[in-house]
Amino acid sequence: MPRTLSFEELKKHAIDGIIDTVLVCMVDMQGRLMGKRFHAVNFVETSYRETHCCNYLLATDLTMATPSGYASTSWQSGYGDYVMKPDLGTIRLVPWLEGTVMVLCDVLDHHENPVQHSPRAVLKKQIARLAELGFEAMMATELEFFLFADTLDTIRENGFHNLKPLSAYNEDYHIFQTTKEENVMRPIRNHLFAAGLPVEGSKGEAEAGQEELNIRYSPALNCADHHTIAKHAIKEIAWQQGHSATFVAKWHHDKVGSSSHVHQSLWADGKPMFADSYDKLGMSDLMKSYMAGLIEYAPDYTYFLAPYINSYKRFAKGTFAPTKTVWSVDNRTAGFRLCGAGTKGVRVECRIGGSDINPYLAQAAMLAAGIKGIEEKMKLSSPTKGDVYKDEKAGDIPQTLRDAIDKLRNSVFLREAMGNDVIDHYIRCAEWEQEEFDRIVTDWEVARGFEQA
Ligand code: ADP
Repeated sequence: MPRTLSFEELKKHAIDGIIDTVLVCMVDMQGRLMGKRFHAVNFVETSYRETHCCNYLLATDLTMATPSGYASTSWQSGYGDYVMKPDLGTIRLVPWLEGTVMVLCDVLDHHENPVQHSPRAVLKKQIARLAELGFEAMMATELEFFLFADTLDTIRENGFHNLKPLSAYNEDYHIFQTTKEENVMRPIRNHLFAAGLPVEGSKGEAEAGQEELNIRYSPALNCADHHTIAKHAIKEIAWQQGHSATFVAKWHHDKVGSSSHVHQSLWADGKPMFADSYDKLGMSDLMKSYMAGLIEYAPDYTYFLAPYINSYKRFAKGTFAPTKTVWSVDNRTAGFRLCGAGTKGVRVECRIGGSDINPYLAQAAMLAAGIKGIEEKMKLSSPTKGDVYKDEKAGDIPQTLRDAIDKLRNSVFLREAMGNDVIDHYIRCAEWEQEEFDRIVTDWEVARGFEQA
C-alpha cells in the first residue's frame, strides 16, 4: 500500500543525495500549499524542528492582498511571524518533481500554541471533539476539475477568454476520450499513489474537459491532507504537460460546475458505526442523528462549502448540483445522498461543496454539525423522492455569498463549536470576497449596458 516516508528514511536519502529538496508547506485559508523549499540536508539537520512564515498567510486572499479588519493580523500589529512546525508523520515523496519530498506543517504562535484559525487546527479541534464522544470520522472528498488545452500563461495573456477544454464533448464515463487525456491523468494517478495517497482511480465527468479523481476514504485529517496535495499535484502535472487545470467551481454559465462531494462515516474501535444494527433503510441510529445535524445546520456552514462569489453560480437546478437541504436514498438531486445502505460501506455523501472548497474547513464544519446532531439525538426527517429541485417544502441552500455570510454570522452552533474568534476571522475573509466583487466592474455588465443602456 502507498505510504509516507519516515524521518529516518528521509535522513538517509538526504545524506545519500537521492533527495535534495524538501517542500515545507502550510495550508492557507483558500486550501493552498504555501511555504518554502529547503535543502534536504539542512532540513534533516535543523529546519525539521521549525521554520517561520509571515502571519499574513492566514489573512490574505487568492491574490495575496492584505485586507484590513482581521483581529489577529494587521499593519497595526506589524504582520509578524507564525511558526511552521513540520508534522513529521506527513513526509512524502513528490515524484513529479526530481529529488523532492514534501512535509505539511501545523501553524503555531510564538508560545507554541496552535493558531486557532489555521485550517489544520480548525479540523483537528472537531476531530478531538468527536473522539471525546468515542468516534473517528472516515471521509473521502471527490476532486472534480477541468483540463484546458492551453497553458496558464497563454490563458492569462488571452484575458481568460476563449477557453478551450481539453476535449470536445461531455466525457462522462468515456474511455476513448479519457484515453486522449492519459498524458495528464496517468501521471496524476501514479505520482500521487507513489506519494502515499490511496488513489482509487479517475473518470471522465459530465462536461467537455471535466475529470474526477477519487481517493480512498481515510481518517478526516488524512483525507484533507490528501485532497490538498492531490489538488496541488493536478495543477502542477497539468502545467508540466503543457496544459492547465482549474478548480474554479463554475467556469462558464453554460457548462456544468465542478463539485467536491464529501463522503462521511463514523467508526469506533476500527468498526463502521453507521453500519451497526441497520433499520430497513440500512442506517444506524447514530447515522440518523449525524445526518439530521448535517441537514439542519447546512445553511449555517454553507460558506465553508462555497467560499467565493463564483461558488454560488454552481447551485443551479437540473445540473446535479443541489439547491435543497434534504436527503434521499441514492438520488443525485438532493444535498445529501445515502450511499452503500445495508453494507459496511454505508455513508452519507454531502453534495453541496464545490471544487473550490478548503477541505479542512468543509470537513470541520460538517463534523461540528454531525456532532451537534448526535449530542442532541436529533431525529432524521423522511427521505425525499423524485426531482428534489421541484420540492417546494424543502429548505434552501443559501443562494449567494452574502446570504451564506449572514447565516454564518448568526450561527450560534458554529460559534460554540469552532469559537467566536475563528468564525469572526472567516466572516472577514468572506466579506472581503464580497467587497472586492462589489467594487469590480465586470465584463458582463459593460457588454450588457455599453450600447443598449
Ligand atoms: P459514487 O457513487 O459517487 O461513484 P464511489 O463508489 O466512487 O461513489 O465512492 C466515493 C467515495 O466514497 C470513494 O472515495 C470511497 O473511498 C468513499 N467511501 C467508501 N466507503 C466509505 C465509508 N464507509 N466512509 C467514507 N467514505 C467511503
